[in-house]
Amino acid sequence: MSSQPRCPHCRHFLYLDRLTCPNCEAELGYHMLSRQFYGIRNNQVVIDGRTWYTCSNREWECNWLVRDDAPAGRCFSCRLTRRRPAANDTVALEKLASTEEAKRRLLLQLGSLGLPIVGWDIKPGGLGFDLISSLTDGKRVMIGHANGIITLDLAESLDDRREALRVRLGEPYRTILGHLRHEVGHYYQGVLLTDDAAWDECRELFGDERVSYQDAIKQHYTFGAPEGWHKSFISEYATMHPWEDFAETWAHYLHITGTLQTAAAIGIRLDATVTNLRDADVVPQESYESEPIQQLLTDWEWMSQAFNRINRAMGFRDLYPFEIVPAVRKKLAFMHEIVTRAPLTLEEQIAMAAPWDAEQA
Ligand SMILES: [Zn+2]
Ligand SMILES: [Zn+2]
Ligand SMILES: [Zn+2]
Repeated sequence: MSSQPRCPHCRHFLYLDRLTCPNCEAELGYHMLSRQFYGIRNNQVVIDGRTWYTCSNREWECNWLVRDDAPAGRCFSCRLTRRRPAANDTVALEKLASTEEAKRRLLLQLGSLGLPIVGWDIKPGGLGFDLISSLTDGKRVMIGHANGIITLDLAESLDDRREALRVRLGEPYRTILGHLRHEVGHYYQGVLLTDDAAWDECRELFGDERVSYQDAIKQHYTFGAPEGWHKSFISEYATMHPWEDFAETWAHYLHITGTLQTAAAIGIRLDATVTNLRDADVVPQESYESEPIQQLLTDWEWMSQAFNRINRAMGFRDLYPFEIVPAVRKKLAFMHEIVTRAPLTLEEQIAMAAPWDAEQA
């Protein structure tokens, strides 16, 4: 399955958020099961004998398709949004569009990693999103995760706001996609660690998550990260509490696999004769499911350095402004193990995510 999205009519390359083809102007809908764009007519298209419609949130730039029998005409991604700004709050709804785009990217990645996605509307504690704005009524929105529900502040999609926060908190990287990857880590920690042995191994690496979270917050915001933190953690925030260390490390696992997957889809590789630094070309993989963690991290070491150089060539900060030290490698190895232990097939994922489909099959 190629993840290089192309126009079905003219084969022009398409970014994942396109509603129309910039080359031939065809109306497009994205079919997440086959990871392909389809041309649509009168808001619909027939795929494998079934009619798919454009998502009812298309006016807010959702380009995913939705099957004729899905509830409320909302696509799989939009269905997972439990709360969103009111219909008359157009300022907040504009911010919702870019946040939803990041969320669709996240869901595609979770899908291709074979992770289970069970919605909050299917099962209590299932995955859901409250996408609300602190600008709506001036009330603070706490970014976080609780019992499957991820809350994001849409105001963070405003560049000046997010960047000001990034600088104030001394973070090298802050994006909406990064927030989503971090918060979904809290969700999957509960989903994937199902037995005592897994929790023991987790506590060994990240510490005991049963220590007081309130105390940890106070400590972190009063004294900051401990001296020498970078020898054991991927970020300062990860030092706050074992829950946060897990979520931060998880986010990096998704940053790394997601970026390498895109590099692979584009066909980027590093030529050994040019880089002159090791004996074989560096060839990013679309999936590292059957590769050892060392392969993933070695490929990333080379590729992230290359991406950083490209960013610097344009005067940007590094694409990946982090250092992966040995202690963090061990934590990432744990992520690799729990993610690749029992990946679900697409059919299994669909049965979980949309049980009404499975009943008909
Ligand atoms: Zn086209
Ligand atoms: Zn949608
Ligand atoms: Zn967190």
